[in-house]
Amino acid sequence: MGEQICYTDAYARSVEARVVAVDPSAGPAPIVVLDRTVFYPGGGGQPPDRGLLLRTADGRQWTVRSARKADGEIVHELDESADGPPDVGDLLLVDLDWARRLALMRTHTALHALCGVVWRDYGALVTGGNMEPGSGRMDFEFERMTGDLVDAIEDTVNRELAIGREVRVNVLPREEAFAIPDLIRTKVNLLPPGIDEIRTIEIVGLDLQADGGTHVANTTEVGRIRVTGYESKGRINKRIRIALEE
Ligand SMILES: [Zn+2]
Repeated sequence: MGEQICYTDAYARSVEARVVAVDPSAGPAPIVVLDRTVFYPGGGGQPPDRGLLLRTADGRQWTVRSARKADGEIVHELDESADGPPDVGDLLLVDLDWARRLALMRTHTALHALCGVVWRDYGALVTGGNMEPGSGRMDFEFERMTGDLVDAIEDTVNRELAIGREVRVNVLPREEAFAIPDLIRTKVNLLPPGIDEIRTIEIVGLDLQADGGTHVANTTEVGRIRVTGYESKGRINKRIRIALEE
């Protein structure tokens, strides 16, 4: 299994790696597996990274248009190239589209802060979410949500972000994770029985979730957010949309 750096160091934006497999059967857009990578394969509402592979020997480069997990391995989907894919054994520089990834890390962390505030102040459970670089949405079981409440939530989230709360990544044995009451609300109990370690993201003093994504290390790196919309998805289910303020 290749080393998956995104889970331990979200700030690693490039790494040298060897090609361990190339699947040309994927058609004109080849699939490449490396012995290590900084790419995030997508999941939990965070889209996969994009970036480049650069062959050190001759300076040739390939655009990685997406990444995903296949049998536990992170695979890179390359753009079509007339000269074909790199070869097994090639030494490559793996280079993320860092501006995009950092925007996703800030957005993802902002969504955790939103989730933490809505849970702490209103007891509303999150039921889902999704994001693009710079904007995202979360769905809550939040029957009494109103426009006034949403304004108050925006203010509170911005205050919490400005405090400079540390964001910590932990990997816990399953039993230990299940003993944390706060994790139950993110439906940790729906995780398949085969998973015996659970990765958690904690905004210290505000939010704790089982999570596989990438986040910034401190809430001040998010900056400020703006609520850009809210919708009713039914009597109980409500959606809040946010964007980063630039
Ligand atoms: Zn997350």
